[in-house]
Amino acid sequence: MHQRTVPCQYFAPQKIEEALEILSQYGKEIKVIAGGTDLLIQYYDRLYEVGSWLDLKNIKELKEIKIHQNQMEIGAMVTHAQLENSQDIKKYFPVLNQSASDIGSPQIRNRGTIGGNIVNASPAGDLLAPLMAYDAKFKLLSVQKEAIISAEAFFIGPKKTILEPAQLLTRIFLPLPSERTYGSWIKIGKRKALIIATITLALVVEMAEDNKTIKDVRTCLGSVAPTPIEIKEIREKMIGKNFSQLDFNQLGQIVEDKISPIDDIRGTREYRKDVAKNIMINALEEIDSAGRERDY
Ligand SMILES: Cc1cc2nc3c(=O)[nH]c(=O)nc-3n(C[C@H](O)[C@H](O)[C@H](O)COP(=O)(O)OP(=O)(O)OC[C@H]3O[C@@H](n4cnc5c(N)ncnc54)[C@H](O)[C@@H]3O)c2cc1C
Repeated sequence: MHQRTVPCQYFAPQKIEEALEILSQYGKEIKVIAGGTDLLIQYYDRLYEVGSWLDLKNIKELKEIKIHQNQMEIGAMVTHAQLENSQDIKKYFPVLNQSASDIGSPQIRNRGTIGGNIVNASPAGDLLAPLMAYDAKFKLLSVQKEAIISAEAFFIGPKKTILEPAQLLTRIFLPLPSERTYGSWIKIGKRKALIIATITLALVVEMAEDNKTIKDVRTCLGSVAPTPIEIKEIREKMIGKNFSQLDFNQLGQIVEDKISPIDDIRGTREYRKDVAKNIMINALEEIDSAGRERDY
């Protein structure tokens, strides 16, 4: 039988530094808890397996959303409800705002955090594709070191990340997009509320200063691979062109061809491929018409 080397305890420190000290002391013997909406379900009938708890709920600086040096900084303990209600998130990152509004129910959005969604690393985590589409970077801290990691490098498999036991995710950094950035968020599930996504798409397009030429694009999907993914091939087909020169059907086909989803209870591989193509076309149409209203 596994012998515990340290006594079981519950910690709820007020400072990040204290939390990091506790983590370095307890290592794998302690579980970090944020809102608990994933964790308590995973450990529902085996809570006895968890040695000690490190609860982040009292660390105020992890609950802030602020703009600093041309970046949005979001604390890991920011809840989905905060993302949903923040005027700054709505203004600069509407795709993230909409994806947070689509999570679970009001109760889950009040408790569940962005940090928990990221570290849990479910392929169906709703915030992951939007974060990748906005080029998010994650700050990982331990007593010894600080690392800033891109979303792409952070996720390595279903529920697997590069986070080490002594590290905390403390902040999420998003570069502030230009005014000419447009986005679309599409979540497909079997019901409208309280549903785990069958497939998600976050499309973010930045226009050049003329507001006609596409300067950059990120096409990110969730629930179609072991981690959230970007379809980078879309970039070369769109950058430098006007929307009127794009073949939406061809772009949808590229998305369909580049993903290799699995069959599961929420949908078959073929269904997901088909839907991926269609939602890409829908997202392009949405951004095109939003842009036309702004006369580009
Ligand atoms: C009924 C229900 C509906 C749901 N619907 C959705 C949905 O529609 N979309 C969706 O994406 N998710 C959904 N979820 C899943 C869940 O609510 C989210 O993933 C939520 O964001 C998890 O955050 P949390 O704070 O509760 O994480 P927790 O459960 O506290 O933690 C999750 C994991 O992250 C680790 N962790 C948390 N914070 C940190 C940190 N700062 N540093 C290091 N490790 C950390 C924990 O140790 C744990 O392993 C649903 C859950 C339920 C119960």
